[in-house]
Amino acid sequence: MVYFETVYIEKEIRNHPRTKEIVDKFPKARNIFIDRYMDVFGRGRQDRQWQKEHPSLILAKASGQRIYPGAVVCQNFGSKHFYYVSSMKNCLYDCEYCYLKGMYSSGYVVIFVNLEDILEEAGELAQQLLQEEEKEMYLSVSFDTDLMAFDAITGYAGLWADFAGKHPNVTVEIRTKGAVKVTSLMQGGKELPGNLVFAYTLSPQSVIDQFEHRTASLKARLISAANALQAKATVRLCFDPMIYTRDWQREYEAMIEAVKTALPLEEIRDASVGTFRISSDYLKRMRTVEKDSPAVQFPFETKNGYAGYPKELEEAMIAFMEERLVSAGLPEEKIYRSSF
Ligand code: SF4
Repeated sequence: MVYFETVYIEKEIRNHPRTKEIVDKFPKARNIFIDRYMDVFGRGRQDRQWQKEHPSLILAKASGQRIYPGAVVCQNFGSKHFYYVSSMKNCLYDCEYCYLKGMYSSGYVVIFVNLEDILEEAGELAQQLLQEEEKEMYLSVSFDTDLMAFDAITGYAGLWADFAGKHPNVTVEIRTKGAVKVTSLMQGGKELPGNLVFAYTLSPQSVIDQFEHRTASLKARLISAANALQAKATVRLCFDPMIYTRDWQREYEAMIEAVKTALPLEEIRDASVGTFRISSDYLKRMRTVEKDSPAVQFPFETKNGYAGYPKELEEAMIAFMEERLVSAGLPEEKIYRSSF
């Protein structure tokens, strides 16, 4: 299990049962009580790299807006109502190209302990949609973090599985670069609802080694996805973001071979394909954090406030991946393409 040197605790939630449960998991950490989490998380001139090496956790209460409409550059998988929730901020993994580095000045992890309030709000929205013509909602719950990486600490994935079971009109997506054990959510004979989607982000091992620090290997992600399918879970594959390297064709080709060998592609719900793209403002900040990362320092093109690969390169990478997936047996209509 990950360790934290310090746990900052908002005074308002010091007696929340989940606060106690989480604090008990880190008996060696120093506990500091604070008024508002932004007093620590939102401070100016923070050193994210130093914070990664000296990790601290902040336990807080989510208040104000808790459910947000998805950004235009994010894939909505054909859903008119695409939202995401923020029950945590920041991640245990350390991808060099992670947009969180552009979004937050702090590297500390925040857990909002009042998940029940977020579940209630999401449930109300799901109910409201039932009155509308388009009743379906796509809800990404692993957005500002990798939710499964924290599940031993929070147990949030199981609560979202229960939520999906109660709200069949909501497709709940848990996206991960980890080696998730979906069977851990099936204790007590629970079945996983079909509208709970485990979305595995897949990258070539060379890209993982170079840019996706602390995440699971490609092999481990594929074993996990195969086990999930065997447990009758709904599985999505995300080849997004594809990251440019000098040898990208060969590397992505090798990845596809590994995917074909490990997974029965006909059982996959769908897949997304897209290259790295990001808000220009976030990129500016990321470049000050990841000064030596070729993934972040690439000479991107900018358009309408977003940065991405030059059009020709983006199209070539997406077309390459789509063609390989279709040849591997994934029907074209199951592939969702994202571009910037
Ligand atoms: S796994 Fe996702 S959230 Fe975590 S560091 Fe990587 S890109 Fe960011």
